[in-house]
Amino acid sequence: MSKFWNDKIKEIEPYTPGEQPKDKKYIKLNTNENPYPPSSKVIEKIKSMNLEDLKLYPDPDVMELGKVIAEYFSNKINDKVTHKQVFIGNGSDEVLAFIFMTFFNAGDKVYYPDITYSFYPVYADLFNVKEVKIPLNDSFEIEIQKYFGLDGHIIIANPNAPTSIALKLDEIEEIVKNNPNQLVIIDEAYVDFGAESAVKLINKYDNVLVVQTFSKSRFMAGIRLGYALGSENIIEGLNRLKFSFNSYTIDRISIEAGIESFKDDEYFEKTNAKIIQTREKTVEKLKKLRFNVLNSSANFIFISHNKVFAGDLYKQLKENGVLVRYFAKDRIDNYLRITIGTDEEMGIFIEKLEEII
Ligand SMILES: *Cc1c(COP(=O)(O)O)cnc(C)c1O
Repeated sequence: MSKFWNDKIKEIEPYTPGEQPKDKKYIKLNTNENPYPPSSKVIEKIKSMNLEDLKLYPDPDVMELGKVIAEYFSNKINDKVTHKQVFIGNGSDEVLAFIFMTFFNAGDKVYYPDITYSFYPVYADLFNVKEVKIPLNDSFEIEIQKYFGLDGHIIIANPNAPTSIALKLDEIEEIVKNNPNQLVIIDEAYVDFGAESAVKLINKYDNVLVVQTFSKSRFMAGIRLGYALGSENIIEGLNRLKFSFNSYTIDRISIEAGIESFKDDEYFEKTNAKIIQTREKTVEKLKKLRFNVLNSSANFIFISHNKVFAGDLYKQLKENGVLVRYFAKDRIDNYLRITIGTDEEMGIFIEKLEEII
């Protein structure tokens, strides 16, 4: 504490990222990174870059990457998406922070589930926005009727975190339709592991904003790239904010890595399919060990056991070299969130679990 901190910094409770241990080699199943490396095209491109160019600022409009992303989604949804509908940020966490700064006034309400990505409450506090938490039902599902006709913008992670459960596209569309005067922000950090993207809605509705990241399904948590897709006017707002804050949020290396990543669709599809396969095998084994496993559309699973307390399991797994995520929070303090690693890593995880229970 310093007397120079402002009032907000004195009172805010910052987000706690999952541990990135430096002491010991763990099987790291705690921060939902992809266990596989970036596409070899990305790696080759970075190695062949003329690093002397780093003396120059990067393109503040990130135009080339924006065009590649726009073209990718044009093909994917069979409808025209232009680079003016793409905003690129330094990780989707930054994109989300910019969304708060662009679309909320101090004192506005923001709606999200009571159990969801724990960064949203931090942003709400930081930007003086009033959070309204809508409870998930007893099966940890979002009840869409509770999101109709609200008087504030809405944020939904789809699939939700840490529950791993996804809404269907038509359910998202119902929420969008029933809030024509509110922005519906869909955080699709995990969408490529088994849910359907709401990008299909961006040309149909002017109140939907889709956020995605390179950190999970694009194997590049270390490069810091995220983006949002929406109508041109919505995206223009985000650019006004960015150019009032920091014109150069994306460095030259990240731009090249992002472009190459989108060019290697085959690696993207094949590798994420492998993660889904590993997830399904792991779920089967956990069910045999009598774990309750929520229905996952993500690269992680959310599990509990009625005989062994999750907090104890977390500790014992850590002692045995396996790091998972535990949240000592209301309603979910008997659950563990387990990132899906390689087959080999998940094999060891199951072995350790068997020993413990
Ligand atoms: C991981 C994650 C993010 C942040 O991703 P970055 O692009 O690495 O900042 C955003 N939302 C959710 C729900 C996430 O799990």
